[in-house]
Amino acid sequence: MRRIKFCAGHRLYKHGGKCENFHGHNYVADFFVTGESQDSVGRVMDFADLKAKCKGWLDEHWDHSFLVCEQDENAITALKMVKPCRLFVMPYNPTAENMAKYLLEEVCPSLLHGFGGVANRVRIWETDESFAEASIDEHDKLVVSSYDAAQVV
Ligand SMILES: [Zn+2]
Repeated sequence: MRRIKFCAGHRLYKHGGKCENFHGHNYVADFFVTGESQDSVGRVMDFADLKAKCKGWLDEHWDHSFLVCEQDENAITALKMVKPCRLFVMPYNPTAENMAKYLLEEVCPSLLHGFGGVANRVRIWETDESFAEASIDEHDKLVVSSYDAAQVV
């Protein structure tokens, strides 16, 4: 597992509550990687490569950026007026669940391709008390769940 920290802004489109306002979090992303085989050193994947790849992608796309849903035209229009504009449009609401899903489904496969490891779980901590995760179960099915750390023993 490799942990990467980043800061980002977001808002939840049509949330109806306070999360509909522009705000941000100090996020923590945990990448869990598995592999069919270990290399000659005994590793599934070199941790340095894993860090470089995952941190590199997050630095380039999400860190100090603003994540919005593609349907949120009002936020996209507003953010495009800001110079410099640093915006990342997602196909769905940027909840912690969907961010984990996006990293697992859209980012990790190509990011880790050729390095021997496959991401099978991504966990996004939005606060230090709650996280959401996306994982691939034994039937290759995507499972998305969220946890309040106070309830996880
Ligand atoms: Zn939030």
